[in-house]
Amino acid sequence: MAGRISRQFIDDLLARADIVELVQSRMSLKKAGKNYQACCPFHSEKSPSFTVSQDKQFYHCFGCGEHGNAVSFLMEFDRLDFVDAVEELASHCGMEVVREENNASPAEQKRQQQLHQQKQNDYELMGQVSRFYQQQLKASPDKDTAIKYLKGRGLSGEVVKRFGIGYISDAWDGMMKVFSKDHHSTQQLVDLGMAIQGDKNKPYDRFRGRVMFPIHDKRGRVIGFGGRVLGDEKPKYLNSPETRIYHKGQELYGLHEAKQANKSLNRLVVVEGYMDVVALAQHGVDYAVASLGTATTPEQLQTLFRTVRNVICCYDGDRAGRDAAWRAMDNALPLIQDGFTLQFVFLPDGEDPDSLIREQGKEAFEAILDQAMPLSKFLFEHLMRQVDMSSFEGRASLVESFKPYLAKLPESVLKDAIINEIANNFGTGSEQFKVKLTKEANQTSKPIKAKISTKTTPVRLAIALLLEHPHIAASISDVSILEPLKVPGIPLLCQLLSLCQNNPEIKTPQILEYFREAEEGKQLAKLLCWQHHVEADAATDVFLDSIEKLLNNFVEQRTEMLMQKARSGALTQEDKQELQAILSANNQ
Ligand code: ZN
Repeated sequence: MAGRISRQFIDDLLARADIVELVQSRMSLKKAGKNYQACCPFHSEKSPSFTVSQDKQFYHCFGCGEHGNAVSFLMEFDRLDFVDAVEELASHCGMEVVREENNASPAEQKRQQQLHQQKQNDYELMGQVSRFYQQQLKASPDKDTAIKYLKGRGLSGEVVKRFGIGYISDAWDGMMKVFSKDHHSTQQLVDLGMAIQGDKNKPYDRFRGRVMFPIHDKRGRVIGFGGRVLGDEKPKYLNSPETRIYHKGQELYGLHEAKQANKSLNRLVVVEGYMDVVALAQHGVDYAVASLGTATTPEQLQTLFRTVRNVICCYDGDRAGRDAAWRAMDNALPLIQDGFTLQFVFLPDGEDPDSLIREQGKEAFEAILDQAMPLSKFLFEHLMRQVDMSSFEGRASLVESFKPYLAKLPESVLKDAIINEIANNFGTGSEQFKVKLTKEANQTSKPIKAKISTKTTPVRLAIALLLEHPHIAASISDVSILEPLKVPGIPLLCQLLSLCQNNPEIKTPQILEYFREAEEGKQLAKLLCWQHHVEADAATDVFLDSIEKLLNNFVEQRTEMLMQKARSGALTQEDKQELQAILSANNQ
């Protein structure tokens, strides 16, 4: 069996990867001096605190403190576990993961490996079930009703295949009798939401007599299903429950398919149901996704805006549709930076995207998308409807009602335009009024900037410089001279020196990787964020200077202590030898 990923491979991978290029493959960065900046993807903010350093191959957010190397970034941004993140980075860099022979590994790595293995098994099983459902659409004795239904919805075989749509007959164990082989696989199917435990201790199929829509994650793995009933039974749509691999608030139905169908996506349309997504694709609008529930969650919006800059939410024009749109807008506000747009389409009564595109076709539907209502218009309309616009009081309360929403918007051209609009139409229109409103709108939820205040001590400076320029470790010939020093940080410094001397090619992100699970990793990250203002060409000199200071301080302290002992007559034989050695060294 393949073991854990080899340390050497991780080192090689981090040497190949470029963190700036990696981050830019997922979000846009602006050059700011030596570094790159953006609004932080890990917390909501309006001015950029997220910094990526090409020199250090490290990212750090001054707002929320998130930091790390390329692997950490993928773990956080793509929500992957460690092994998945390494695999993803490897495929990004075009490298093949190298694993070690599985000889006894530390407990934590073993646990991670087991978890990873379990997940792999889960994905594998869900993939097999999905293929079984697809095969049932061709082979089941009552397949004709399902085929008739899909044809009735205007779907071609090609689209049915592209979305992996399948079928399962109405029986208690249609799927279980194929996949439930022993206690272990039965439990796994229950855990994955495919079977229901029931009373009689004999788990049975959750999905029965339904057309099956597999739900894929970003990486294209089947993580759950939606099932549409063929007759009039209830519920019409049945979905997988939350499981260890399926978190519905984070996934979007159709996103994987949309990415597969489009080399570069410009916009995404959010619709309510699976059938809408599939019907739109059938008619050439192959960039629709469904939010797998009524509300669009902040996580889903984040995924959307990490994929495209223009998101159009398409809802029913009724009350429920408008409420859903409002919630989506509220969740999206912190993500609307310059260059990003959120728009809304409200469909006429009784229409859904499926019916509309079937009646009117692609061009008409896209014309509706092109005319979508901008976020600002939706915001104004919604808030104005709630106040009496004919009175001064009503207009004043309208200005108030805007404030919490403005506070969520990042500073942007759009925000300025909205403030102008409010000031001109509902305020006094004076410059003063605008300035006051802008100030209020921008201060409500400013992130607290965590100051990295690091007192300069020789140990800290030595560690920081070594971390940034690992090659300077070679300037110390004998690490053991530092070992006796009783100064905080010396053990870490010695550890780092040995690590760098034993691995002459090592770079900053690889060092961080060695300390991923260790407490010292946090100290290292903090030192890496520290602005010590030592230029690269002076690093070796300043480093040696710090080491010398450390040694001198130590000798001074020891001498002082020993002299004091001598004065009080408490010097031992050992102390005498040490004192002599120090004094003769000083006289040389
Ligand atoms: Zn942050």
